[in-house]
This record gives sequence, structure tokens and C-alpha cells, in this order.
Amino acid sequence: MNGGAVNLLEVDDLVKHFPIQEGAVLRRTVGQVRAVDGVSLTLAPGETLGLVGETGCGKSTLARCIAGLHPVTSGKVTFDGQDITNLSRSAMRPFRRDIQVMFQDPYGSLNPRRRVGSIIADPLVIHGVGTAKERRRAVAELMERVGLNPEHYNRFPAEFSGGQRQRIGVARALALKPRLIICDEPVSALDVSIQAQILNLLKDLQDDFGLTYLFIAHDLSVVRHVSDRIAVMYLGRVAELAEADELYDHPRHPYSDALLSATAVADPDVADRRGRVVLTGDVPSPIDPPSGCRFHPRCPRAQEVCSVREPVLEGAAHLTACHFPIGPGEGAPR
Ligand code: SF4
Repeated sequence: MNGGAVNLLEVDDLVKHFPIQEGAVLRRTVGQVRAVDGVSLTLAPGETLGLVGETGCGKSTLARCIAGLHPVTSGKVTFDGQDITNLSRSAMRPFRRDIQVMFQDPYGSLNPRRRVGSIIADPLVIHGVGTAKERRRAVAELMERVGLNPEHYNRFPAEFSGGQRQRIGVARALALKPRLIICDEPVSALDVSIQAQILNLLKDLQDDFGLTYLFIAHDLSVVRHVSDRIAVMYLGRVAELAEADELYDHPRHPYSDALLSATAVADPDVADRRGRVVLTGDVPSPIDPPSGCRFHPRCPRAQEVCSVREPVLEGAAHLTACHFPIGPGEGAPR
């Protein structure tokens, strides 16, 4: 550990392009999918950063690059003061204990033919932690901590509900006592009532273990109550980044405003008062993103310059990449 590091995680101008290749024998690259195209962000110890955007905006690819599951095209990932960009498998191994990923699908991410106790114990086995007896005890404690009955150690995933399966995923992610957990849409596949239980569990665990979360979701309402700050991504770039309440109350980027206006509101009076910004057109392809501001073909505030000049993400605490950001009193009513 580097005690001098202020941020636990720093991502600097990260780019991840996937080549598109043609030809059965002589493969040649004919284009690039620009999944992540110059993203910078930081995470302080104990902080939760929500990362939000529509499907295909690059948020999951970014998460995988940070976790070392994808090599990056360019840019830098620093964890606890150490450069972990494109490390070899063996060099990355010590960091894998500290950086865990929790996936979206509690059904697909658990092997249906294995007992949950051994699934949760996997990280301990892989990293050679403890004896078999110690691992069994550790798994029982983890199951209890995440709200599962340790007596269900020998059951199979199919014997658990969706929410319980996500608790299994949480227990597995916690097994190595990580410092950073990348939660990749951890509640998207769950009913709303179950979502709240898992979100509360993650919050409790954060308080108990001092965890740092990168929390990915496509729905702004999911991340609001768990995030300290929120970054909104659009087509491989960060469009806006601010404290959670500030972003909800005063969104400056038209894309954030549109996402917020589509967010479900529990109070019907508020829902009635609220206007709705309807985005027109499809999300453009990351193979050939629009010139200038990538959001300009769908933006209700776009002007001529928007299709020519790309806006820079700028600001002090509230960063926005927009030539004509929304000012106080503008935007969808809330
Ligand atoms: Fe809309 Fe222009 Fe701002 Fe892009 S730069 S979000 S097109 S107003």
C-alpha cells in the first residue's frame, strides 16, 4: 500500500478500442469500435462513484479495463498510487485481491452445477488463502454477513431466489476483503423491492469494511442513494460528473437532464408536474461517432458549433462537457 495516495483509483484518459477485422485467412482491420474514448475519473477511499449511461455507452468496458480484464488501448489506471495499466496476469495477481467485480446477472454468473459454498470459496482457493477448514468457516461467516443461512452451504444456485443469488455474488466479491468493488449493474435484473434490499446491504458493508465502490447502472434512480458522486457517460465519454445531489438537482448536460426526466418518480404529484425530455433518434454507433459533440444529433439544445467542435469536460467540482450547459431554472421541471 502506498500511504501517500490520496485517491484509491485514478483513471487517466483511458481509451479502449476494439478492432473490427475482415477476411477469413488474411485478417485485416477495417475499423474500430470506440467503446471508451478518453475517460478520466478518480475514486477516493470509501467513496462510491456512480457510473451511468445507456446500454452501449462503454461503462462496462471501462469497468473491465479498470479491473484488468481488458487490455487498454491507451491511458493509465493507477490503484493506490501504483500503475496497474496492462499488467501481465502474474503482475496483476496481488491487485486482484484488492479489486473485485460483481456482475449484473445473478443467474448467469453462478455455475448452476456447483454448490454455493464452493462458489463463494473460489477466490480463497484461487489465491491460496487458508486451509479447507478455515475457508469453510470463512464462507459460513460471509454467508451470514450477507443475509444467507450458512446451513445452505451445500445448496445449488437454482435453490435460491434472485435476490439471494445476488447476495451469493456479494459474498464471493467480499471473500478476499477487497478495497475496491466494481459493481456492474448489480441490481438491474432484480425486482424493485429486492433492489432496495441489495442496495442497503451494499451500503452497510461499505460502512463496516470501508469499501470503495464503482457502481454501474443504466438507471439514474438506482445510483442516487448509494453514490457520493455520479459520472454520466455517453458514447465512450464522460458527459457530466458531479456530487450526486448536485447532479440530480441541477443537471447541466442535456443528456443528464433527459435521463433524469425519464426517471420514475414515486410521488404522483411530482410526476405530474415534471416535464419530460424525449430523446429523438437512436444512439449513434461507437464505430463512427458523430463529429463535434457526440450527443448533437439527439440534443434539444444543439447549435451549429456543436456538430463541429467537441466540448471539453470542464469545471471545478461540477464538470460538464457541453458548449451550452443548462443554467439555473432551465431544463426539465423537477
Ligand atoms: Fe447539446 Fe451542444 Fe451541449 Fe452537445 S455541446 S450537449 S449538442 S448543447
